[in-house]
Amino acid sequence: MRVNGKVALITGGAGGIGAETARVLAREGAQVVIADLADDAGAEIAAEIRATYLRHDVSSEPQWQEVVGKVAARHGKIDVLVNAAGIEGDLKNAGLETSLAEWRRVMAVNLDGTFLGCRTVLPKMLEKGAGSIVNISSIVSFFATPTALSYGASKAAVEQLTRSIAQLGGADDGKRVRCNSVHPGVIKTRMTDNILSEFAKLSGVSPEQAEAAVNANILFKCRGQPSDVASLILFLASDESAYITGSAFQVDGGWHLVSAG
Ligand code: NAD
Repeated sequence: MRVNGKVALITGGAGGIGAETARVLAREGAQVVIADLADDAGAEIAAEIRATYLRHDVSSEPQWQEVVGKVAARHGKIDVLVNAAGIEGDLKNAGLETSLAEWRRVMAVNLDGTFLGCRTVLPKMLEKGAGSIVNISSIVSFFATPTALSYGASKAAVEQLTRSIAQLGGADDGKRVRCNSVHPGVIKTRMTDNILSEFAKLSGVSPEQAEAAVNANILFKCRGQPSDVASLILFLASDESAYITGSAFQVDGGWHLVSAG
C-alpha cells in the first residue's frame, strides 16, 4: 500500500497510460478520481477500481475550478495530481505545413491543460504543506520532431514548466509540494496505435512494417506497456520519492540511446 490514504486526481485517466496509473494507484491504497472526456471508458475504469469519474476538458479553466472543487468537497484534499491527458495532433498537419489552428489545438490540451492543472491544484497542496504533481511529457521533449512540431514543442514546454512549478512548491516555508516530469518513449496505447497506422498509410507500408521500423529504433526492440510508465508514476506519487523534485524521468526501453545516435 505505497500510496495508502492519498487522494489522486488523474487527467486522461480513461486512456492507456492514465487508466493503468489509476489502477496501480488504487491497488496501492489511493482514492482515485479519473478526469477525462471519454465518458464510457472513464466510467468503466472507475467502476472497475471503485474510483470516481468526472467529465473534464483539461483545456477549460472553469472546468478545472469545478473539478478541483468537487474533489476537495468530496475528499477534503488532493495529494497527487497526474497530468496525463494529451493528444498527438493530426499527423497529416504536423510538419512545416502545421496550421496555427492545429498548433493551438495541440497546445490547448497538452500545455494549457498541464499549466491549468498545476496552477489550480498547487495552492490546494500548499495549504496542506505537501503533495506530488506528475506531468506526463514525452521522450520527444529532448529531440527534434520535424514531423510533429506542435506535439514536440508542447511536451518540451511541459518539461520546462515542471521545473518552475517545483520551485513554487513552498520549500522556503518548509513545505514539500513536489513536481516531476515523466517522459515515455513508445508505449502501446491508442495513441501509438493511431500514429503507427497513420505512419503506415503515409509511407505506403503495412502496419507490421511500420511497427518493425519503430521497434528498430528502440534498444529493447518493442513498445513499452502502460504498466511500465504507471510503476514510475506510482514511485513519484508515493513518499518513496520524497527527496525528488523538478526532475525528468525517461521510461523508453533505451529509445533515446538508439535514436539520439
Ligand atoms: P491515450 O490516447 O490512450 O490517452 C489520452 C487520454 O487523454 C484519453 O483518454 C483522452 O480522452 C484524454 N484526453 C484527450 N484530450 C483531453 C482533454 N481535452 N481533456 C481531458 N482528457 C483528454 O494516450 P496515452 O498514450 O495513454 O497518452 C497519455 C499521455 O502520455 C499523453 O499526454 C501523451 O502525450 C503521453 N505520452 C504517450 C506516449 C505513448 O507512447 N503512448 C509517449 C509519450 C508521451
